This record gives sequence, C-alpha cells and structure tokens, in this order.
Amino acid sequence: LPKRQPKPKWLRVKLPTGKKYTELRGLVDKYNLNTICASGSCPNMGECWGEGTATFMILGNVCTRSCGFCGVKTGRPEDVDWDEPEKVARSIKIMGIKHAVLTSVDRDDLKDMGSIMWAETVKAVRRMNPETTLETLIPDFQGVEMHIDRIIDVAPEVVSHNIETVKRLTREVRIQAKYEKSLGVLKYLKQQGQRRTKSGIMLGLGEEREEVIQTLHDLRDNDVDVVTIGQYLQPSKKHLPVKRFILPDEFKEYEEIGLKLGFRHVESSALVRSSYKAQKHIN
Ligand code: SF4
Ligand code: SF4
Repeated sequence: LPKRQPKPKWLRVKLPTGKKYTELRGLVDKYNLNTICASGSCPNMGECWGEGTATFMILGNVCTRSCGFCGVKTGRPEDVDWDEPEKVARSIKIMGIKHAVLTSVDRDDLKDMGSIMWAETVKAVRRMNPETTLETLIPDFQGVEMHIDRIIDVAPEVVSHNIETVKRLTREVRIQAKYEKSLGVLKYLKQQGQRRTKSGIMLGLGEEREEVIQTLHDLRDNDVDVVTIGQYLQPSKKHLPVKRFILPDEFKEYEEIGLKLGFRHVESSALVRSSYKAQKHIN
C-alpha cells in the first residue's frame, strides 16, 4: 500500500457556492463568527448553509482528549467563557440559522464536564431564536447521568453522540472513550424520554464489513433513531492513516441495511459528516 493513497474522484470536493452561502460567508467574516463548518473547511458548506443549517462548537477549542482521528487541539483548555452562550445565540441570529447543531470539546477537567455551559447555551439560543431547532452533539460526559440529564432537561429536538468506529477499533481511534459507554449514553437518553437520538461512524479506519453491520445493530438495539456514515479523512500526517476508501456502492449497501434495521434516517456516503442534512433528522 502506498503511504498516502490518492483521493478517489468521489471525494473531490466542489467549492461551496450559492447565493445563501455567499451571503452567510460575508456575515461570518464580517462579525468573526465561529462555525465548525468554516473552521473545519467542511465540504458540505454550500449545501448546509444554503438550507440554513450550521454547526457551532462550545467550551473553547482545546480538548482534554486526544482521539486519533480528530483535528481539534489537545491540551489544557482555557477557562470557560460564560459569555459563550450569548455569543453563540447571537451568531445563530445574525446568520438566520433555522437548524443549529451544537457540539463541544470534551472537558474532563471540569467538575460538571461542561454540562452547565451546555444547558445555558441551549437556553440562550432558544431565548434569542425561538424558531430555531437544535441538535446537541454531546460528549459522553463519562456516562454520568446527572450531566446527561442537564441536556435532556433543556429539550433539544435531537441529541446525538457519536460512536465513531466499530468496537474493536475504539481503543485506537478514541483512546479515552469506551464503545459500551457510548452505547450506554445513547440508551440512557432514550430511557429518559429523549424523542430523537442519533449517532455516527466513520469508515476507512480498518474496520471489516461485518463489524460495521454489528455496530449498526448495536445502535439500533439501543433505540438510536438516526445514523450517519461517512469516509474518514486524515486531518494531518500525525493522525491515523486512511486504511481504505470505501466505495460508493458499499455506502449504499450500509444505508439499505440501516433502513432495514429500522433507523428513521441513514445518511451514508463518502462526504457525510455527522451534521450533514441534520435538519431532516428532527422528524
Ligand atoms: Fe457544517 Fe456539519 Fe454541514 Fe459540514 S456537515 S457544513 S460541519 S453543518
Ligand atoms: Fe476531538 Fe471530541 Fe475526541 Fe476531543 S473528544 S479529541 S473534540 S473527537
């Protein structure tokens, strides 16, 4: 295998275009707004922003964990910024976002693991944008129910938590996380009455077909409603290598399997990211 495989043609990204995209891009630059879409140069920006969907990260941009696939900086995070809820709410207002996805770095350094900031952010977004629907893409909060409850209490339309990879590769891909713990978080959300739950996996890290199917079963067994499946791309040479580019037909097959298993929505193709087409997942 060559050290770095060339990208197949279906991964070549079209530059984001569209009137809405151009307008939002202008606002983001003018007001210095912070979206994951732009900071991560997500390939789906034209499409998502055109539909009024964007993703915002809270609790700073330094993570206490060091997942092998993730481009976020690891280290000692700065102090939390209690103005952050207002800032995010204002960004959503300025951009006129209809459906916002909120996510965060993991804050294992904080006693509440950031759950209070999470709840405050949802509340601030609701106050300033009563029409905007929300997905909260949460960390595992180390499985502590009290912290997860704070999310459920503020009632986002969708709560997601990504399992990211198959069981066998979890140690390598997300060293500080556990496959079973993530399933437990998803299960708990449903048990507490969360209407829509969602999870995501990346492919191309060395997983086998049977393991992917097993993961889909495991998510469904824990009543997860929506699953996203996309191609892993290496953020830098220091990150885990891409073992394989999954073929479009294989993504299609996983989609069909997922739908047969009873997921309400399955987004499965190379450029899918966990917040891709997020707006439709509230239904
Ligand atoms: Fe933003 Fe997510 Fe859409 Fe990418 S997939 S543009 S990160 S909302
Ligand atoms: Fe990245 Fe999340 Fe892992 Fe932190 S916990 S390194 S933000 S994937």
